[in-house]
Amino acid sequence: MTSASDERRRTAVHAAVMFDGTDPVTIDDPVVLIEDGRIVAVTQGLASVPPDAMLLDLPGTTLIPGLVDPHVHLALDASADPVSALASRDDDEVVEAITSAGRAQLSAGVTTVRDLGDRGYLSLGLPPRPALPTVVSAGPPITIAGGHCHFLGGVAHGVDGVRAAVREHADRGVAVIKVIASGGTLTAGSDPRTDQFTPDELAALVDEAHRHGLPVTAHAHATTAIEAAVAAGVDGLEHCTFLTDDGVAAPDELLAEIVARRIAVSATLGLVPGPERARKTPEILKRNLAATFAIHRRLIADGAVYAVGTDAGISPEKPHGVLVQGLIALGMLGVTPAEALRRGTSVAAHICGLGDRKGRIAPGFDADLVAIDGDPLVDRASLRRPLAVLVAGRAIDRTV
Ligand SMILES: [Zn+2]
Repeated sequence: MTSASDERRRTAVHAAVMFDGTDPVTIDDPVVLIEDGRIVAVTQGLASVPPDAMLLDLPGTTLIPGLVDPHVHLALDASADPVSALASRDDDEVVEAITSAGRAQLSAGVTTVRDLGDRGYLSLGLPPRPALPTVVSAGPPITIAGGHCHFLGGVAHGVDGVRAAVREHADRGVAVIKVIASGGTLTAGSDPRTDQFTPDELAALVDEAHRHGLPVTAHAHATTAIEAAVAAGVDGLEHCTFLTDDGVAAPDELLAEIVARRIAVSATLGLVPGPERARKTPEILKRNLAATFAIHRRLIADGAVYAVGTDAGISPEKPHGVLVQGLIALGMLGVTPAEALRRGTSVAAHICGLGDRKGRIAPGFDADLVAIDGDPLVDRASLRRPLAVLVAGRAIDRTV
């Protein structure tokens, strides 16, 4: 139980090193002063701790902003068949699953997630206790009858149908619209190389969302679907695999437009370590992985707004909290540890629409912090060792 006086108490967090979420140059001996859940100052040295502040001393650790995963599914439980598991649960049980998924995210240092597909808008309005990550919700993704993720309930048809679906989502209080622009691999009978909506439907959906002040992100594996989504004016692209009938291809103009318009690319990286033979990565994605990575390297080099969205929950290799693996995997794309951390904090927070509150350690930002055992700017794998996770300035109990 907390009292009002607790809420007003100031906390000072002291660590060995700090990465602020943007600047690759770290700060030694940092002290982060927190009041009412917000960061009010960053100073250096224990001598700078105000006498009235409660000290949380974390020697030997690197303080980083809480991590941000812009693509998760809290309602999916990362079991071998999460779609059937979801279907077998009533709404109360789904809220329970969402809560434990959120706790797993927090334990791994992920303090903000964007949920890009729940059922029945159940990821909105979760109870305030226990402490959960900040959840930015899309509600059920908008898809076609029998299309990818249709089982989540967001089916719409025709220009009027997609406009009505967007209005319903806006009424329910979503923060972002997720549209399924191409088929996917999780849904039986769906082909990731085919488009789902007509250009008119996509344009109407984006127009209606923007009228309501909502950004749109499109699930798009197929190059044709990426082109259609970009032409329709989306704000973000999920997966962005660039699949064609014979492999992978990305026209120069398309890549240039994604970069120039600052369309966010959320790359689906991150798998728990384990034997390759046990993985169920869909064959079509595995076969084309190297070619997709080559395009992603170019997007990064050209300055795209690019982060890792794990799709956590969709399989046993993608449990909740797997983002650290995705950030480590960015090394395969030539991304430095500091750059990977920037993308996993301030860039991802910007993509989630929370760039002014999350993803940085600076005055005015929410005090969502992670203390890593070691230095993740030198040793990427140390990200797997969060020693403390703070949400709004309070250390969470990571044993429950
Ligand atoms: Zn997804």
